[in-house]
This record gives sequence, C-alpha cells and structure tokens, in this order.
Amino acid sequence: MTTTAADVTKPDFQGHRKHFIFTDEHQQLRESIRRFVIKELQPHSEEWEQQTFPNWVFQRMGELGFLGLDKPEEYGGQGGDYYSSLVLSEEIVHAHCGGLAMGLAVHTDMAMPPILAFGTEDQKQEWVVPAIKGEKILCLGITEPDAGSDVAGIKTRAVKDGNEYVINGSKTFITNGHRADVIVLVTKTDSDAGYDGFTLFLVPMDLPGVIREKKLEKLGMHASDTALLAFQDVRVPDTAVLGQVGKGFYHIMWELQGERMIGAAGCVAGAQHVFDRTLEYAKERTAFGRSIGHFQVIRHKFAEMATKIETARQMVYTTAWR
Ligand SMILES: Cc1cc2nc3c(=O)[nH]c(=O)nc-3n(C[C@H](O)[C@H](O)[C@H](O)COP(=O)(O)OP(=O)(O)OC[C@H]3O[C@@H](n4cnc5c(N)ncnc54)[C@H](O)[C@@H]3O)c2cc1C
Repeated sequence: MTTTAADVTKPDFQGHRKHFIFTDEHQQLRESIRRFVIKELQPHSEEWEQQTFPNWVFQRMGELGFLGLDKPEEYGGQGGDYYSSLVLSEEIVHAHCGGLAMGLAVHTDMAMPPILAFGTEDQKQEWVVPAIKGEKILCLGITEPDAGSDVAGIKTRAVKDGNEYVINGSKTFITNGHRADVIVLVTKTDSDAGYDGFTLFLVPMDLPGVIREKKLEKLGMHASDTALLAFQDVRVPDTAVLGQVGKGFYHIMWELQGERMIGAAGCVAGAQHVFDRTLEYAKERTAFGRSIGHFQVIRHKFAEMATKIETARQMVYTTAWR
C-alpha cells in the first residue's frame, strides 16, 4: 500500500501549547489581562509616552485584582502563584508602553514583596492592603548617584536617635518616585559592619525632609516617572524599620531575585511582540514584486530572532520553575 500525504502525521506548527509551568487557570488569566490591556490601556500609549501614565491605572488594576495576583488573600490578593505574576508581566506588553510596565512592576513585584516577606502585621495593613487595591503607590530606593550595581556602596545613612532614626542621603533613577506614597528605602546603619550594616525602612513620601528633586529625562521608558530624591534629616520611628536591623542587604538581595525574573519575562514578551508585529509588516510590505518577508536574507533574520527569543523564554521559564 502506498502512503498518501493525508496519512502522514505532520507536526502542527500552528498549535499553541502552553509551557508546563502554566495551567489552564494561567491561560484564562492571560486572556483576561490581555483583553483589559488592549481595550483600556493600549489606546493611551502614545499620550502616556509623552506625559507618563496616570494614577487611575493603579486604581483600575486594583479593582480588577491585577495588582495582587500572587499576593495572599488575607491582604486582598488573589492568592495565586509566582507564575501568575509572570503572566501579568508578559501580557502588559500589549499596552505598547514600556514605562507603564515598569511602573506597575516596581509597585507589585519590587516594593511589595519585601513588605510582605519581612514587614510587621501593621506595616502590611498600612501599605500592602491599599497597594493591592491601587489606592497607595509604592517605590523602591536602592540606587544612588554614586552606587548602582554595587549596592553595598550606598551612602544614605540612618542614624539611631532615641526611638527614631534620622535619615540623610539621596537616591536616583527611582521609578514611581514622583507619585509614590511610600518608599522601601535601603540605608546604611553601621558603616563598620560590612554586609551586616544595612537596614531597610518604610518611609512615607510626605514626611518633612523627603524632597522629590527632579523628574529625570530618559532615553526610553518615557511613560514611567523616574525621580532623583533627597532625604534631609528625615525622622522616622523605630516602627518604620522593615525587617531586621542590619540585615537590609540580604533582604534586598532576596527581593532582587524575584524582580529580575519578572523583568526578564517582560523583556522576552516584549521582544516576541515586536517580532510578531515586524513579521506582519514583512508579509504586507512589497518590494520588487513580492513581500519583503520572502527575501531569503530577511527570512534568515527572522529565523535567528525567533531562535534567540525562544531560547531566552525557555531560560526564563526554567529559571522561574527552579
Ligand atoms: C529606567 C530605570 C528605572 C530604574 N528604577 C529604579 C528603581 O525604581 N529603584 C532603584 O533603586 N533603582 C532603579 N534604577 C537603577 C538601576 O537599578 C541601576 O541603573 C542599575 O542598578 C545599574 O546601576 P548604575 O546605573 O549606577 O550603573 P553602574 O553600576 O555604575 O554600572 C555602569 C556600567 O558598569 C557595568 N558594571 C558594573 N559593575 C560591573 C562588574 N562588576 N563587572 C562588569 N561590569 C560592571 C554595568 O553593567 C554598567 O554597564 C533604574 C534605572 C533605570 C534606567
């Protein structure tokens, strides 16, 4: 008997299979976030790239439950897993607004996790509960004019004075710094203690001595506000310490691991989205009597890009799974 083409099992190249870290629930979440993003956020992207995105985005996403996807239900979150947060970072790229994704991620996946992990019950009630509702906005202050990658090189000091600490220093490149209600602030409390000399504080941004100095101009990510901040004799009570005194360096290193995965997932999803849009263009655009996507040199470029994006995606998912 001869084999006909119809009998041969062919690979289904069009089939979309979910990665094993995701369940059907993640898929439903993905679809509902994407619908919301395309309908309610994407139409504003050009305007927000000029002026930064407005605060109502936090409130709206809080109403929809998107600011606490992986946060405990007792604080108003959805009680989902870390992968649900990855889904949000992947789907937000459909807003076509990188600064928006960054501002939201700083709120949900950079500033909020250390409060949940190391905060007291009072701190969680005061900041996490309204942050998940989108009523309060969070930012995270690590970087300084003279210290970025080298976190241990920061100079912002917090000096104990009775039942208070007095904070002096400056922070730069702080996303949400102009709109935030509170900052998770990394300080040095003991210059002689090496990595055991750092302490985190929750500093309300309306305290005397907190100065939102400058809105920084950037090459990209225009929709996010990025601040240069100064702290001049800012007095906070002992209860503003987040986590353990002297353990701030370890607390923030823990935080950075989670946030970098979220950032990486967003970057891969952004690359995929740009790839898809470019492919559409290459199919539509004609030159010399055919669509430019049919030229071999362009097909090679697409194949290389697709391979790199897929490699990065597998690395992100596998690392998240570990
Ligand atoms: C848009 C935007 C938003 C940001 N938001 C925040 C925020 O919300 N909160 C916050 O705290 N920070 C924020 N940052 C700061 C960001 O985390 C820092 O820019 C980053 O940590 C790098 O620090 P730096 O810019 O001082 O560069 P540096 O640390 O000075 O590095 C300069 C260059 O040297 C390289 N380099 C540094 N160390 C090494 C090494 N050991 N080996 C080899 N190369 C090295 C770096 O890769 C880089 O290319 C933001 C930055 C940007 C651009």
